[in-house]
Amino acid sequence: MKYKKCPRCELNYMTLQQKYCTVCLAEMQGKKDDFDPIAMDTCPFCEKNPLKNGEDMCAVCRHKRVKSQSFDEI
Ligand SMILES: [Zn+2]
Ligand SMILES: [Zn+2]
Repeated sequence: MKYKKCPRCELNYMTLQQKYCTVCLAEMQGKKDDFDPIAMDTCPFCEKNPLKNGEDMCAVCRHKRVKSQSFDEI
């Protein structure tokens, strides 16, 4: 079987039947339904709830934290 270099990355080889190498194909497919990683972060505290608009914690954890802080620091 003959191989040629991928025209996109010019790194990987692929069969003549392929348009791009498997790496590029996977990359392009992944990008199609890619979402903004910043807009879809997960809360690092509970690792459950999604974060919106660059928040550093979800509303549940923020609530908990504010509560415990007001208890401890007064
Ligand atoms: Zn490629
Ligand atoms: Zn959380």
